[in-house]
Amino acid sequence: MTEPKKKRFLSGMRPSGSLHIGHYVGALENWLRVQHEYECYFLIVDWHVMADHMGEVAMIRKNVIEVALDWLAVGLDPNENSFVVQSQVPEGAELQSLISTLVTVPRLNRNPTLKAEIRQLGKEQGQSDEEADDISRARVSVAFYNYPISQAADILLPKAHLVPTGDDQLPHIELTREIARDFNRLYGEVFPIPEALIGRVPRLVGLDNNGKMSKSLGNTIQLGDPAEVVTRKVMGMYTDPTRLRATDPGHVEGNPVFIYHDAFNPNKEEVDDLKERYVAGKVGDVEVKRKLAAALNTLLEPIRDRRAYYEQHMGEVRDALYQGTQRAKRLAEHTMAEVREAMGLSSYFK
Ligand code: ATP
Ligand code: MG
Repeated sequence: MTEPKKKRFLSGMRPSGSLHIGHYVGALENWLRVQHEYECYFLIVDWHVMADHMGEVAMIRKNVIEVALDWLAVGLDPNENSFVVQSQVPEGAELQSLISTLVTVPRLNRNPTLKAEIRQLGKEQGQSDEEADDISRARVSVAFYNYPISQAADILLPKAHLVPTGDDQLPHIELTREIARDFNRLYGEVFPIPEALIGRVPRLVGLDNNGKMSKSLGNTIQLGDPAEVVTRKVMGMYTDPTRLRATDPGHVEGNPVFIYHDAFNPNKEEVDDLKERYVAGKVGDVEVKRKLAAALNTLLEPIRDRRAYYEQHMGEVRDALYQGTQRAKRLAEHTMAEVREAMGLSSYFK
């Protein structure tokens, strides 16, 4: 196994919509921190979205661009790093197919994130968890069921050392590590064992205080939302349901407005003061929310500005995707030659 000059870092996002503030604290903040230190591959996983949005070609193509726009907007450098469109590196499908021989069905079935996401697929129609599970089991595609293996292939293809992620992805990374170990044991050392890097806020709750903020659940503040939309969304947020008047003592723990303050308001004194007054029944929701909206808008303003620039310079966005994908493709071809050799799949006809 030859060591690259810089360690490699891979992470991906689904082109199922534009990005939100959960992506920022759960992933992008880390990406920004390591982008100069590691050789980074940022993947837009369009195959993955096809697994639960069959035939929605226009939606997926549009969102590949949206995700790239958001990445540029937060300040990722596409020259020093590679922005990669998953489907344009088909070696990933070959690797997925080969490593799927190393994963048992019960191993996949134990994956808690996969279980939860499959249940979510049925939630639109089913009421109880059991009903949702029944509906999902009938609807889930083999591709969706297989996506943890596809994700493992995405990580192993560039031989990534570090995989930054929200906590929902941890079971997939554990699976990837097992696959890498099994592969190396059976066929010789080819893959490094990747490490997970958890974001500062591993799972940001949604505006509805229901599970996690997620593109598919419509409970997000988008990185590109205009200031007045951010303010409107914050003013409509759930707070402490037990508190009817501003003079009632409130709860800070588990209150999404304070969770967001902790995550996004850099003025810790202001946050501590608001918490103290909230618990004592000395501040209304309106003030707490106004200050949160202001903190969020301060964070998002430069991101919005850069996004507006790239929206006017789409050639630069497409070029970033093209150049990055070419680099990833060269690396993938190299890895696959090694994998085929190791597995006894090369030179049949020499
Ligand atoms: P979808 O609903 O289509 O699955 P998503 O909003 O969950 O979209 P992904 O593209 O699946 O976004 O996630 C990309 C990365 O961002 C993953 O590493 C994930 O863990 C992280 N992430 C997504 N949502 C959050 C969140 N609410 N809090 C922290 N991290 C998050
Ligand atoms: Mg997701």
